Amino acid sequence: MKLADRTTRIASSPTMKVTATVDRLRRSGVAVIDFGAGEPDFSTPEPVKDAARDALDNNFTRYTPVAGIADLKRAIVQRYKTDYGVDYGDAEVVVTAGGKQALYNTAMALFGPGDEVITHAPFWPTLTEQITLADATPVLVRTYAEDGFAIRAQAILDAMTPRTRGIIINSPCNPTGALIPEADVRAIAEAAVRHDVWIVVDLCYEKLIYDPVPHNLPKILFDLCRDRAVLCGSASKAYAMTGWRCGWQLGPAPLIAASVAIQSHSTSNVTSITQKAAVEAIAGSQDSVRVMLDEYRKRRDLLHGWITADARLRCEKPAGAFYMFVDVSDALSVGGFRTSLDFADALLEESRVAVTPGEAFDAPGFIRISYATSTDNLREGSARLLEFVAKHAPQAATA
Ligand code: PMP
Repeated sequence: MKLADRTTRIASSPTMKVTATVDRLRRSGVAVIDFGAGEPDFSTPEPVKDAARDALDNNFTRYTPVAGIADLKRAIVQRYKTDYGVDYGDAEVVVTAGGKQALYNTAMALFGPGDEVITHAPFWPTLTEQITLADATPVLVRTYAEDGFAIRAQAILDAMTPRTRGIIINSPCNPTGALIPEADVRAIAEAAVRHDVWIVVDLCYEKLIYDPVPHNLPKILFDLCRDRAVLCGSASKAYAMTGWRCGWQLGPAPLIAASVAIQSHSTSNVTSITQKAAVEAIAGSQDSVRVMLDEYRKRRDLLHGWITADARLRCEKPAGAFYMFVDVSDALSVGGFRTSLDFADALLEESRVAVTPGEAFDAPGFIRISYATSTDNLREGSARLLEFVAKHAPQAATA
């Protein structure tokens, strides 16, 4: 069957594939511990659900403006003002179907044939696939486990060429949990001004930073290069709203107008009911965000202790998001696994623990464990992982 060329250039989401496999096994009656899920295990906060019920009861079920209802746009702008001290106007924000569509609109509006777009690896695969869908070329800059996967400005600047059109930064990063230091964002912003390059920041995990490290990316970009900076955010992780599909883009008015035009010919507005719920999530009490963050931190600390008790598994304590990115390369070679994909398949088959193999993020030798699951699951799943490694790679270094 002849399909458009662009379909041959991209692969479907490998992280979603793990979710589909777990779902299939569970439906056939197999109990699986799921460390694959890239989403909160918490329920959407009650006041947010109440706002959605009110929207339904009030028949708020029709089309809305493509860019979103006024009170949601205001809530987003106000949240960024309160949290970061930046001041965006009504024409500088669009409500999107998740952070994914915010990033997609951005790629479609900014990038095209011949353009190079720099991002850092290991990466969340959608970022590079969207660059490819826009007919541009992803240019990858590596970050390293030994350096805490920190995103370094110098590496990004070294990768710039006359064709560089944009730089995409994901901080906190999926899958590494690393943050970009503020000084590096500043250096990148200054270079962006000099070379007329766009900076796109994926802030989907912005509410999941565990320690009070300075990480005011919006303010740095707003002050240094607001006319070339795009902020992409999401209600998914912060408010446990993955299924509702609500995100946003903040950026200069002409880019936002182009994004609204693109969205007007694809999905139109985000679900009207979701928008009313999101107003409550974003403008209402942020207590639930803090409660969830505290719980994730507790789980992170426990899981890190359990995993690193075995020297065959190496990982840093992540600074943000809810993933532990574990170096299993010692266990791979000794255990006779060719790839971390083989390792993950065998772990699922034998021990009934689902993890996402590093290949999904361009990081062979690693697995990603999501700790957005209960402490009991984390205890049981990590015990199974350790048993699995001890069985397959008993002779790998243990100290
Ligand atoms: N960015 C990153 C780095 C992500 O991990 C995700 C979700 N996995 C998203 C953006 C998009 O999420 P959503 O579309 O649900 O907002």
